[in-house]
Amino acid sequence: MTDFVWSIDDAGTGGEAAAAVSRRFARWLESRSLRATWLVVPKPGGQPLSAEWLDVLREARDAGHDLQLHGLTHGDCFEFGPPAWPATAIRPAFVEEFAQRREELLPRYSVDNLRARIEEGMEIFQRELAIEPVLFRAPCGAISQAMFAALAELGIGYHSCQYISATGYEHLPHNRGDLTPVWTDAIPHRPYRWYADVIEAPILNEYTWRGAGARSAEFIELARQDAARIVTESPVAVILMHTHGIADDFGHACRLVDAVVEHTASLGDHTFTTLGQLIASGALAAAATVSGPDSLEI
Ligand SMILES: [Zn+2]
Repeated sequence: MTDFVWSIDDAGTGGEAAAAVSRRFARWLESRSLRATWLVVPKPGGQPLSAEWLDVLREARDAGHDLQLHGLTHGDCFEFGPPAWPATAIRPAFVEEFAQRREELLPRYSVDNLRARIEEGMEIFQRELAIEPVLFRAPCGAISQAMFAALAELGIGYHSCQYISATGYEHLPHNRGDLTPVWTDAIPHRPYRWYADVIEAPILNEYTWRGAGARSAEFIELARQDAARIVTESPVAVILMHTHGIADDFGHACRLVDAVVEHTASLGDHTFTTLGQLIASGALAAAATVSGPDSLEI
């Protein structure tokens, strides 16, 4: 049996319209008896969370959604480490940008500095949302060994940003456009113990990035194929969405969710839950029966 999770990034960013569409999507998920894990930026662009976003987040919390930390400011794509695949497949210019700012950026990645950033986010969560976060997702998948050490020191034992497949970005103009599923072998396809003994819950794929709605049927087929394979390989499957991707084509996002729920039902006795619930029940820790690769240079 596999527990599926809908995880939605960049909550808290993007102004009033983004808050409104997120509220609408949360209510729509609830109409399907689904709840998501929302990855919230606690100090977006260095500013406090807006009143609109705070309302949306508190409503979501009260409706049973799971809210967890997504960086502190998300001010750029290098907040907790150097650029990583597949962010570099979404925006190849990240590589050059990091190279140009290397001297400025490398000193960021000290345990003390990253710990202070995570701690500030935790304080905002406690003060504004009365939530003790238990999972972290670094913005843009940019991570470092110091980040894992800082998470462990703060008692956050779970992280989620490594991708099993990035085929969901193949539709972008600079990529090949082929939506045949391709999975990496660089990481385990199931939760694993990683640096500082933090448990990584890898992301299966994303099917609702901006522009995906123009090829909605093909993305739904890709999601079906990924789901059929992951249930044979992992007890946990984390699917990624972004608030701005949902806003880009709300109908596609809803069709995609419905199609995955319907397909998984045909595959066996699989459930939909949140990362917070899997952590609280011990299921995510129990799923991490393997270790991750020593792959981070920084
Ligand atoms: Zn993000």
